[in-house]
Amino acid sequence: MNQQTNIRSTADYQAMDAAHHWHPFSDMADLNRKGSRVISSAQGVWLTDTDGNRFIDGMSGLWCVNVGYGREEIVEAVARQLRDLPYYNTFFQCTHPAAAEFAEALANVAPPQMNRVFFTNSGSESNDTVFRLARVYWDCLGKPSKKIFIGRKNGYHGSTATATSMGGMAAMHGQSGLPFNGFAHIDQPYWYGEGRPEGLSPEEFGKLRAKQLEAKIDELGEENVCAFIAEPIQGAGGVIIPPESYWPEIQRICNEREILLITDEVICGFGRTGSWWGAETYGVTPDLMPIAKGMTSGYQPMGGVFISDKVAGPVMEKAGEFYHGYTYSGHPAACAAGLASLRILQEEKLVERVRDVLAPRMAKLWAGLADHPLVGETRTRGFLGAIELVKNKETGERFDGDLGVGGMARDLSVGKHGLVMRAVGDTMIASPPYVMTEEELDEMAARARATLDDLADKLT
Ligand code: PLP
Repeated sequence: MNQQTNIRSTADYQAMDAAHHWHPFSDMADLNRKGSRVISSAQGVWLTDTDGNRFIDGMSGLWCVNVGYGREEIVEAVARQLRDLPYYNTFFQCTHPAAAEFAEALANVAPPQMNRVFFTNSGSESNDTVFRLARVYWDCLGKPSKKIFIGRKNGYHGSTATATSMGGMAAMHGQSGLPFNGFAHIDQPYWYGEGRPEGLSPEEFGKLRAKQLEAKIDELGEENVCAFIAEPIQGAGGVIIPPESYWPEIQRICNEREILLITDEVICGFGRTGSWWGAETYGVTPDLMPIAKGMTSGYQPMGGVFISDKVAGPVMEKAGEFYHGYTYSGHPAACAAGLASLRILQEEKLVERVRDVLAPRMAKLWAGLADHPLVGETRTRGFLGAIELVKNKETGERFDGDLGVGGMARDLSVGKHGLVMRAVGDTMIASPPYVMTEEELDEMAARARATLDDLADKLT
């Protein structure tokens, strides 16, 4: 069947899909009533569906297509690799040129304390790897009681049982009796979401939230705590940008206490915050860094974990074999896609483009949206943005959750204004590809405003 032209109708695809495809993170009954949107092609920052409608992809797929769609360099690199060597494993002292080259290229852009990468197939698997490796590290140091992971409420680290336990998504925990024992969570540094606590500046608030880590370590006993894991900026939780005081305080606590610091760079990595790593943006020095998404710009499924010399040393010296790996760890086609995507980031200076061009422009445009009567706050960092929808702009009072205002805004944005943004509760979030032109970014902001105007009409 020709994959490019749709030889069946949208209704055909929807019927096949409804009958046989169980979607991730979807209410299947609701989805089957409405029918899926069938996206069939894409170029640059534009998606096209099977009815020929075009959309600006304000989410880079799922925060991953950073170099944009239709990059022939990546397609060619993957095709070449599949012809040369479609698969070989990296277990048992084997490698192949693509894995070796990609590992070296990644080490060259990693923070200085990190010189090794373990390959996985997703962000979730990366965090399962982190969980096992961090525990082995403490075993190697003769401290086997250090087992507990501290994460954050509303943090997201993936969907496997371990990653769900590390994360702090109440809805996910509620469905499966998670987290497992051995996981603790502190509050997130979400100043606006906590109702802009009276008498506390964002900076004071950020510091207080960070100090919860210290209190949690004391409560659990430092001798029992393995690591703290957090996203530099919480993505799936609603683009929650911490006050500047937050991360330095976390770093201080991790320096003073004997626990590992893990920054989950699955969204923030590869330039999203305006430097290569979220850790770099916030000036922290993690011991482990899970990565995925932007690693291949979504052209192949892939994840990984950057391992600091501090962790790698004792494990290599004392653990012998690390009994952990995935059949497709370092898959040749994924490595080829990753290498090609990394070269694009470097040759087109896209990380610098985020920092110097896109981030300042988005900050200005999003600040411009803040005067809308339905908007309580807008915030951006790098090429990430959020819009808080509220009932009362002055007090920050939210709409009744049952109204589903965020979902209404998302549906208007996609369905009427051809702009894909995501809704997390009543927070609209955006994370566009780095190849977006300035005109396209202006157009995106104009469509966001038109969505807000329509929403206001609908709510009155
Ligand atoms: N970590 C973070 C910060 C993420 O945002 C995600 C996915 O959105 C994951 C981990 C899980 O990645 P994956 O969906 O590739 O398993």
